[in-house]
Amino acid sequence: MIEIKDLHAKVEGKPILKGLSLSIKPGEVHAIMGPNGSGKSTLSAVLAGRSDYEVTSGSVTFFGKDLFEMSVEERACAGLMLAFQYPVEIPGVKNVYLLKAALNAQRKARGEPEIEAPTFMKLVREKLKFMKIDNSFLHRAVNEGFSGGEKKRNEILQMLILEPKLVLLDEIDSGLDIDALKVVSEGVNSLRDAGRSFLMITHYQRLLDYIEPDFVHVLSDGQIIKTGDKSLALELEDRGYDWVVEETA
Ligand code: ADP
Ligand code: MG
Ligand code: MG
Repeated sequence: MIEIKDLHAKVEGKPILKGLSLSIKPGEVHAIMGPNGSGKSTLSAVLAGRSDYEVTSGSVTFFGKDLFEMSVEERACAGLMLAFQYPVEIPGVKNVYLLKAALNAQRKARGEPEIEAPTFMKLVREKLKFMKIDNSFLHRAVNEGFSGGEKKRNEILQMLILEPKLVLLDEIDSGLDIDALKVVSEGVNSLRDAGRSFLMITHYQRLLDYIEPDFVHVLSDGQIIKTGDKSLALELEDRGYDWVVEETA
């Protein structure tokens, strides 16, 4: 599904990603863990196509296509969704309009007609209920004045409506209490299937109790230095990251 090869990227002239390689097949759930500042959010920014992040070498293909040749809209329409560590607020734009516009843009790109209003509302209400989000959410401006937990739930709501093929979740667990974490995890787990993949960036093993990964990677200084299964996450929780860095050196 996605193949990241020897990726190098700079921010403000400073090299951050230094040869990151990662391959994700359909149906797989991968977790990336790593110390603060190791480049985890830089990876999501680069995949999102943020212009302040400069890719200096390496390649990323998404369903066999060069990701860097695709516009941000093309990436989204091809099924890439990124949920950021700090979701943006869009004052003046109601949630319901953003959801509908995003869904219709995707349908248009696939040559499908716009979704009919009643069908859309039925879909949205069903997903709101599943995510335990109040209907009034729809008429609030996107993320404006939302608590950290509400923003994260809103990201998952978007995911449930857009049904992307590859979802990258950057610290979806940060700032969530245990009940919100369960709802968010149920949302993610409900979409797990053989054709859909997830890349979860997290500091804490706790998330992985709820969303069980197939692979756990350690990112350190812009490179993946170790890969294991979910037991690696438990070991990291127990022993920290230093031993992995020493083992690699
Ligand atoms: P992580 O998500 O693993 O904590 P980041 O990818 O956010 O790490 O950051 C990696 C490094 O890049 C840090 O040293 C950070 O200060 C720097 N960095 C990230 N984004 C920017 C930016 N927009 N401008 C300047 N430096 C940045
Ligand atoms: Mg960080
Ligand atoms: Mg980060």
